[in-house]
Amino acid sequence: MSKVLEVCESDNTLMATRRLIKNAVERLELPPVVYDYLSVPMRFVEVAIPVEMDNGATEVFTGYRCQHNNVLGPYKGGIRYHHEVTTDSIKALSMWMTLKCALVGVPFGGAKGAVVCDPLKMSVKEKERLSRAYIRALASVLGPETDIPAPDVFTDAQVMAWMADEYSKIKQVPSFGVVTGKPLAVGGCVGRKEATGRGCFYVAREAARAINLPFNQARIAIQGSGNVGGSAARLFAEEGCTVVAISDISGGVYNPNGLDVSALLEHVQKTGFIKGFAGGETITNQDLFNLDCDILLPAAIENQITCDNAGNIKAKIVVEGANGPTTPDGDRILKEKGVLVVPDILANSGGVTVSYFEWVQNNYGFRWDLATVNKRLEDKMVEAFRLVYCFTEDNCDGLDMRTGAYMFAIQRLAEAMEYRGWL
Ligand code: GLU
Repeated sequence: MSKVLEVCESDNTLMATRRLIKNAVERLELPPVVYDYLSVPMRFVEVAIPVEMDNGATEVFTGYRCQHNNVLGPYKGGIRYHHEVTTDSIKALSMWMTLKCALVGVPFGGAKGAVVCDPLKMSVKEKERLSRAYIRALASVLGPETDIPAPDVFTDAQVMAWMADEYSKIKQVPSFGVVTGKPLAVGGCVGRKEATGRGCFYVAREAARAINLPFNQARIAIQGSGNVGGSAARLFAEEGCTVVAISDISGGVYNPNGLDVSALLEHVQKTGFIKGFAGGETITNQDLFNLDCDILLPAAIENQITCDNAGNIKAKIVVEGANGPTTPDGDRILKEKGVLVVPDILANSGGVTVSYFEWVQNNYGFRWDLATVNKRLEDKMVEAFRLVYCFTEDNCDGLDMRTGAYMFAIQRLAEAMEYRGWL
């Protein structure tokens, strides 16, 4: 019995992730110490971040950086600005980064950062001061060879630019490789913004192929119209698939004959929301999960597919564009129904893959064009999908790609631990 499981009080995402890791370690018959390494972060830093607000008062925010594991390379993972962040959720998210990087074969470890705040209520200047202060508080544990943050929920290329600038000022040398997901003008990579959605598109195509579903006739429902959902929607439509529904925080639209994706994304660009788009019937976020479709792409936030709605899902394939969109109960129901779930650590790894390309270009002074980036991303995603799919077929009972993905990633991590003399 593991020491860590015994001391946990409540069942949450972190517990569920630890269970998945433990199951994978046991199935692979690896030494239990592999689980011990992976069940706790190597370092968890909590900092107080004082920020002068526009009204002149100082507010002290709480910031975190969780460095989960670096057996494969420097820690890597996004920073989110959110009012509902918990230390357990950050730990789980950092574990997923370690697994994601191992799975897709980029030489990074896993990390995640956060600031507890409500970015929607902050001015641009307040966000800039917060981003710079976060870097000042954590500069000693970050660096292009140590730990490389990136955008996550409510952080973007502009936030990364402020962070790269602040770090470069501290080091007194341009060090743009300290973060990825930057604007092109300061060492960003073409295609990075769309990379997660593009990666989802590639794995959805491979998943369709694997179960003999004619991809260009597939009916697709997407939760989320942002970087991930919106970019994927455009690619699905270009491929000839029928995007029947898209939703966001404001609700969704459904058109059984297929939405005009370009018009919808233009509407979102102009108004900020899907609400008010005339090209379909108005639906709720919950309705989206009941629709008649072949592929469902949850590309918004955590815990969306649960025991309450998983039973109604009609899709044959679920591609987890978001991190952790399916609860363990939801997952069990999908498995019982024989739905092919492409797990988050595989499906959304396109983002960190192009982050890796950005970091390589920063380190070597390269500039790759969009065709090169997209081709390399496609090769990585297709390879990772096929490896995990075949591994799952050979080693797991039934169609449980999550178990397969965890096992595949952990096998790679354990191999590195073994060579490095950690075991
Ligand atoms: N935040 C993204 C993720 O969860 C990207 C991380 C990165 O590029 O380092 O995968």
